[in-house]
Amino acid sequence: MPEDAVTMDKIVALCKRRGFIFASSEIYGGIGSTYDYGHYGVLLKTNVKNEWWRSMLSERDDIVALDSAILQHPRVWEASGHLAGFTDPMVDCRTCKERFRADHLAERAPGLACPRKPSKPPGEGPDCDLTAARDFNLMFKTTVGPVEETGSVAYLRPETAQGIFINFKNVLQFSRKKPPFGIAQVGKSFRNEITPGNFVFRTREFEQMEMEFFVPPDEAPAWYETWKAERFDWYQRLGIRPEKLRLREHGAGELSHYSSATADVEYRFPIGWSELEGVANRGDFDLTQHALFSGEKLEYYDQPTGERYVPHVIEPAAGADRATLAFLADAYDEETVEGELRTVLKLHPRLAPVKVAVLPLVRKDGQPEMARELFAALRGTMQSELDEGGSIGKRYRRQDEIGTPYCVTVDHQSIEDRTVTVRERDSLTQERVAADALLGHLVARLSAPWRSPKLA
Ligand code: ATP
Repeated sequence: MPEDAVTMDKIVALCKRRGFIFASSEIYGGIGSTYDYGHYGVLLKTNVKNEWWRSMLSERDDIVALDSAILQHPRVWEASGHLAGFTDPMVDCRTCKERFRADHLAERAPGLACPRKPSKPPGEGPDCDLTAARDFNLMFKTTVGPVEETGSVAYLRPETAQGIFINFKNVLQFSRKKPPFGIAQVGKSFRNEITPGNFVFRTREFEQMEMEFFVPPDEAPAWYETWKAERFDWYQRLGIRPEKLRLREHGAGELSHYSSATADVEYRFPIGWSELEGVANRGDFDLTQHALFSGEKLEYYDQPTGERYVPHVIEPAAGADRATLAFLADAYDEETVEGELRTVLKLHPRLAPVKVAVLPLVRKDGQPEMARELFAALRGTMQSELDEGGSIGKRYRRQDEIGTPYCVTVDHQSIEDRTVTVRERDSLTQERVAADALLGHLVARLSAPWRSPKLA
C-alpha cells in the first residue's frame, strides 16, 4: 500500500486555508487547544452528525432522540461516579514541565515523545524527571445563581450519556418503546483535559454522539456484539478504508468499573492508532445508581409477563469532532495532474460540505447569468456554490480542496445549446449534460452507491 500523503500538519493547514477549523480566540493570542469551526467545517461536521442520526433513527425503528441539558443536578455526577472517579492519573516531568497521562506512558501510546528528545518516550530522555501519578478531576465546575458564594455548584457535563439515563423513565412513558430500545443524543461535552492536543482529536470542549441501548439482561452480550459490528461498519459505509480501522477489545485491567466489556473502534490517524469510538456493555450500573441516588424506580415492567427488571445497557459513544478529523484524514490526497500538484478531499458525497459548484468559464457573454440561473435551481435541493471569479483552474483546485464532488461549468457552448459540463472530483471525467436535466442528473449521481477511490 503506498504511504499516505496526509500528515496532521497538512490537515491543520488545509482546515485553516479553506476555512474549516480555526484556532479559537486567535486575535487575543489564542486559548490552547480550543477551536472554532468555519463555514465548511460546520457543513462537514453537521453532515457527520446527520449521518449518525440517519443510522440511529431513520434506518431503524427502535431508537428515539433526546436533547438533554448541559447543566444537570450535581447529584447526577455523584451517582454516575464522575465526581469521585472522573480522573486521569497524570505524571509531570519536573524538567520540561510537560504533563502526561499515566496510562499513555504505560502503554507507550503512539506519538508520545519527550519534548526535549523526541526520539525517546517521556521519561526515557537523559534529563527526564517524572513525578509519581497524581489524580485530577476533569469536570468543569461553575455556580448557578446570582451570587457566586451562595450559588449552588454545578458541572458542565463531561459526557452526554447521563442525560439519557436520568430521562429513562420519561422516554419509557412517552415513546411507547420496550427493551430492546435505544435513546440517542448528540451534544457538547466538556472535560478539563490535562493533555489536550493533536488538533481536534482531544479538546476541552467537544461534541459527542452517544446512544444508550436498553436490553433485557440476558440479551446484553449479543447486543454488544451487534453494536460493535454496526458501529465499525458505519465508518466504512461512509468511505473510511478498512485497513485504517480496527476494533480493539479492552483487557480486564483496562475496563471501567461499570463495564463488563468494552471495545474501541480505532482509526489509524497520522499520529498512530487511536480511539475513535468506544462501545461498552455497561450492565445495569447506571440505572441502578440513579435509582439509588434519586429514589425513583428505574426499571421496566413487562405487563404481559408480569416481569420487572432493570435493563442492561450497551453504549456506542463516538466523538463528532474526532470522527470529522478521521474523515478528513482518510479523504486527504495529493496527486499530480498535468504536471501540477492537486490536493483533494475524496470525501463521501454525503459528507462533502458542498455537493456542487457552478462555474462560468468567463465573466461575459451571458455565462455568469446562466450560471446564476442554474445555481438558483440547484441550491434548494443540495448545498451549492456559485464561483464566478478567477481562473477556472484555480476554482477547480479550491473545490477539490473542500471536497466538492461535482463542478458544473458553463462555457460558450452552453449559451448556444444549453448544455453544461459536469466534472467529477475523483476521476476528473467531464460529461456534457443538458442544463434542464442537470438537477435530476446530480441527484442521481449523488445518491448512487459510492466507494472510496483510495481503495485498491
Ligand atoms: P480517551 O481515552 O481518548 O480520553 P475516552 O475513552 O475517555 O477517550 P469516552 O468517554 O469513551 O472517551 O468518550 C467517547 C468518545 O468521545 C471518544 O471515543 C471520543 O471520540 C470522544 N471524546 C472523548 N474525549 C474527547 C476529547 N477530549 N476531545 C474530543 N473528543 C473526545
